[in-house]
Amino acid sequence: MTTRKFSAVETHGTAVKTVAVVGAGTMGNGIAQVLAQKGYQVQLLDSQAPALDRAVKTIGGSMDRLIKKEAITAADKDAALARLKTSTSLGEVKDADWVIEAVFEDLEVKKAIFKELDRTAPAHAVLATNTSAIPITALAAATGRPEKVIGMHFMNPVPMMKLVEVIRGLQTSDATYAATEALAKDLGKVPVPVNDYPGFVANRILMPMINEACYTVMEGVADRDAVDSVMKLGMAHPMGPLQLADFIGLDICLNILRVLHEGLGDPKYRPCPLLIKMVQAGYLGRKSGRGFYDYSQAG
Ligand code: NAD
Repeated sequence: MTTRKFSAVETHGTAVKTVAVVGAGTMGNGIAQVLAQKGYQVQLLDSQAPALDRAVKTIGGSMDRLIKKEAITAADKDAALARLKTSTSLGEVKDADWVIEAVFEDLEVKKAIFKELDRTAPAHAVLATNTSAIPITALAAATGRPEKVIGMHFMNPVPMMKLVEVIRGLQTSDATYAATEALAKDLGKVPVPVNDYPGFVANRILMPMINEACYTVMEGVADRDAVDSVMKLGMAHPMGPLQLADFIGLDICLNILRVLHEGLGDPKYRPCPLLIKMVQAGYLGRKSGRGFYDYSQAG
């Protein structure tokens, strides 16, 4: 795992050696870990220095668990960490062959970053986004290289989950798509081609299920535990939809449902009033200590 030939993935005639990951939160640190373990030089960038410190700790802890499971060695961990550089300056993308953006899910924030990335990253670099629901086509249009902009929608937790939805914007070229597919495969992931419509595929199907689970509870058809048990025991889902909603974050679920509702204009995506009320109350799931389940010590 530590030695590496750099011929597998190319972008527009250049071998991909250095990948910049912008945003060192939940997703950014998982993506950076997988890249570093696979032998890429990684620049993990975040505007907040504490986020970078947390990310390096999280990545180290995640690799320690892999060592315990004998999936990697301590030497692999040291080599991967040596390939990982962090910075609060977006200017570091000047040396990147590929950029994966994973900052907050906010169209204006992402557009501003894509403009900056376009100015700073080398001309051959692909600019990918890990957005869950923002149109790739709109981010591409903010750059002077829309044919090299693409969605790489990794799943959480990135080191464990095999899927990468590869989302083509209207302007994305075949060459960029092929290079992205090659990079995802090189990372041990399974790329799945998707076109740029609200929610792509994963959230277009998952979020209506979670929403329906909320309606089922709100209407008193069954309680939380019953809904989750039906889906776990009857449909072989590893987590019930309400447990999964808590894991994702109820605010994130609500935002994605709003994107589906507005973007597709179909009332079938109308967010459940119970979900809205829980977000209003600050019951956001695991991260706030309370969602459909109670994660406080007492709970
Ligand atoms: P997060 O809140 O954990 O992390 C976002 C990071 O971006 C923060 O560390 C923040 O400091 C940084 N950031 C914000 N603005 C910045 C800027 N201008 N420059 C540099 N850094 C900046 O978010 P996350 O959960 O990792 O989500 C990131 C992206 O991945 C979002 O687009 C989200 O929709 C998507 N996504 C999330 C999940 C998930 O389950 N969390 C799954 C798939 C996709």
